[in-house]
Amino acid sequence: MDSSLFRKIPQIEQLMQQPEIAACELAWSRSETIDALRAILGEVRDELRSGEPLPDFASAAFAERVRTALEKMREPSLKPLINATGIVIHTNLGRAPLAPAALDAIKSTAAGYTNIEYTLETGKRGSRYDHTRDLLCELTGAEDAIVVNNCAAAVTLCLATFAKDKEVIVSRGELIEIGGSFRVPDIIAQNGAVLKEVGTTNKTKLSDYEQAISENTAVLLKTHTSNYKIIGFTAKPALQELASLAEDHDLILIEDLGSGTLLDLSEYGIGDEPTVKQRISEGAHLLTFSGDKLLGGPQCGIITGRKDLIAQLKTNPLLRAMRIDKLSLAALEATLRLYKPPFAPEQEIPVLRMLTATLEDLEQKAVKLQNMLASQTQANTKVDRIEGEAGGGSLPGTSLPSFGVRLVCAALTPGHLIDALRRSRPPIIARITGGDVILDVRTISETDFHYVTDAIDDISQHSLSQ
Ligand SMILES: *Cc1c(COP(=O)(O)O)cnc(C)c1O
Repeated sequence: MDSSLFRKIPQIEQLMQQPEIAACELAWSRSETIDALRAILGEVRDELRSGEPLPDFASAAFAERVRTALEKMREPSLKPLINATGIVIHTNLGRAPLAPAALDAIKSTAAGYTNIEYTLETGKRGSRYDHTRDLLCELTGAEDAIVVNNCAAAVTLCLATFAKDKEVIVSRGELIEIGGSFRVPDIIAQNGAVLKEVGTTNKTKLSDYEQAISENTAVLLKTHTSNYKIIGFTAKPALQELASLAEDHDLILIEDLGSGTLLDLSEYGIGDEPTVKQRISEGAHLLTFSGDKLLGGPQCGIITGRKDLIAQLKTNPLLRAMRIDKLSLAALEATLRLYKPPFAPEQEIPVLRMLTATLEDLEQKAVKLQNMLASQTQANTKVDRIEGEAGGGSLPGTSLPSFGVRLVCAALTPGHLIDALRRSRPPIIARITGGDVILDVRTISETDFHYVTDAIDDISQHSLSQ
């Protein structure tokens, strides 16, 4: 390393005098141009330390480098990416991609005014909860329904309305943490209710619930064990039994389903989740579930159940702080319509289409991606059968066999390769399985294959030239 080179790095003020860089100041701003130059000069020092030559600061190439840095600084923080993990409902990657019909509904609702709280027949004030109520009742068999901004809010609203200063009975096998510090015991405490745990981790009997009931009990709460499964020597009462126990003692039976599905996925050989309709028919008084998990819609929390109870929820002032926005509501209504004839939800709704994709389809898709990679890049690729999962606290313990492309780039470790994929544009999020980077095709749209090919071509050329 030649330390005299460091002294040849010009001052920022000096660089700002150059016409092409001065033009940046007009196109962006002075402070951003200074930030970009400062960052680039830092990079130049690193380059000198690793033995690279000094760039020509007066060249067009250097000015281009400044403009590229400025453009990068203005890029949106939130951006689309390619999910190659195979995890269909990935909370960190935004859960459910929406169906085209839902996107159209968002666009037309966002662009102008709507009748969100206005009754067109009478010209009077209306309720935002009316737009999806009939659809939700029809699809779940419930008497009434209300929608809030997510399922955590739905559970909170139910407990705050019905269990304040009262006791809530929960099985020890269902005291769940959903993530993001949403823990059932804490939520109960936070809403001024008292948790009464019954049974054991693996076995809870109807009589455990029965013996715990006191005159202060208000709610029997069941929760879906979304992100784990207790298997082996286990027992819990049927929902019907809990429903009659609740009715005998004038209690409310609430079930937090979390990922509640409207479509019976077991018909496609996927898991054994009950549908929302089944749980309503088995006697749950109130059910809570997310809009952006197995339903495949926008972020929201849905509460379906008894009319008198939903009416009470509507009187809770907390509801105002949890209300669903018009864009999510528009997307939810459009998504729910796709569950009705003539539509086939498993075709129209991306989450369901990805989950119900057949192994043959996935294999064909993987072969197609592999062919593109083999003909257009230097990477070593191989189609492999792999195990995936639904994710997002849906279908716990249910493995989803899939196909992926195993990827090896000369001169790059799997760790470096996965980093390089993540830094591509658009970013590609993959995972490492069996020591190799795998692109699971379940969650990659075929229309995005060219991005994947281009990114891997770039990465493998770059790694070979190093
Ligand atoms: C995911 C989940 C929630 C939280 O749902 P959000 O819509 O993310 O707020 C609550 N309960 C259960 C059982 C869940 O699986």
